[in-house]
Amino acid sequence: FSQDLASSGQGNVRVLVRARPFVPREVAAGSRCLLSMDSSADITIIHSEETINGSDKTDTASIQRRSKLSKEFVFDASLWSVDKSTSNRFIGQPELYKTVGKEFLDHSFNGYHTCILAYGQTGSGKSYTMIGSDNEPGIIPQTCYDLFDRVKQMTTSTTSFTVKVTFFEIYNENVYDLLTSRSLKGQPTPLKVRESPVDGPYVKDLSSHSVHNFEEVENLLRKGNELRATASTNMNDSSSRSHAVFTLSLKKIVSDPILDETTEEMNARIRFVDLAGSERANSTGASGSRLREGSNINKSLTTLGRVINILSESALSSKKKELVPYRDSTLTWLLKDSLGGNSKTAMIACVSPCDYEETLSTLRYASRAK
Ligand code: ADP
Repeated sequence: FSQDLASSGQGNVRVLVRARPFVPREVAAGSRCLLSMDSSADITIIHSEETINGSDKTDTASIQRRSKLSKEFVFDASLWSVDKSTSNRFIGQPELYKTVGKEFLDHSFNGYHTCILAYGQTGSGKSYTMIGSDNEPGIIPQTCYDLFDRVKQMTTSTTSFTVKVTFFEIYNENVYDLLTSRSLKGQPTPLKVRESPVDGPYVKDLSSHSVHNFEEVENLLRKGNELRATASTNMNDSSSRSHAVFTLSLKKIVSDPILDETTEEMNARIRFVDLAGSERANSTGASGSRLREGSNINKSLTTLGRVINILSESALSSKKKELVPYRDSTLTWLLKDSLGGNSKTAMIACVSPCDYEETLSTLRYASRAK
């Protein structure tokens, strides 16, 4: 992933695939690795159990069937986090940050809005990739740490920065604040989505929090995640059915001490989105509220895929720009400014190394989005 996103001239959207290690359950079940990656060419190949086990049938039909079951995809980056024993370069949390996080923060300090999304089935590594743990921090904490480090270095008597945080989730097309002290019992109240002529779509009454150092952001991130988990348990749900949107608003102000006025102002929005588990989008046999919930997730993920697909065509005619279907889901509508225009977007498609159906479906989605 040596390309510079800003100067590669291939539009503002990047699609990356990250394959996680086996989890204990898969090891216990004796699962085989169905993925291979050629990181230098950024190719991901998925093989079926049948091709891996090397069926001994050598008639033409069997061979054709086996080759049909192996599928090859090209992405902007194929990130191997399965094991350290293969010839693939292992991408741990620090390498992941170097691959995409650091560069996106560069864009933010240059005044671009950015958006990094994690897509994939539940258990594929989305929250590990975005948040991680204390010992293995994901993209969000690493970005925040680096951000305050840079702010410290760049602050002078004439240049100052402010950073604000919001955190909300979208569940069943409704928006809920994750940083208010809302009652943990019963149903929370959804917030309204409005549109301002200047700022575009926004969440009315969403709480916004000024932060001055890494620890303050880390606290808010933890608080929001706890609320997301607790609220979903109360609703008898799993947080994997909501989209969580964490936003940092970075403002830089340069002032002239003699004239005592602002000479330069820069605003950049840095968004991180942990998407709802994509398996709901495909699940069949659901009914009632489950069905509505599934179709809402389906709608937002499909719309997101379509939006990213249109935006990734580098030269967008103004006619086409009008046709980007942002309004078709709350998620894409609220992310409008972070996806289109001058913003930089990266989608990290997270996959399990041994789930043929789900991994194939994620790879297909990601390659369509490209
Ligand atoms: P999701 O958020 O998509 O539901 P998680 O992030 O919770 O999935 O990941 C499922 C499990 O796999 C967790 O135990 C997590 O720690 C582990 N995991 C996921 N990705 C990685 C990775 N790249 N390296 C190490 N462990 C991972």
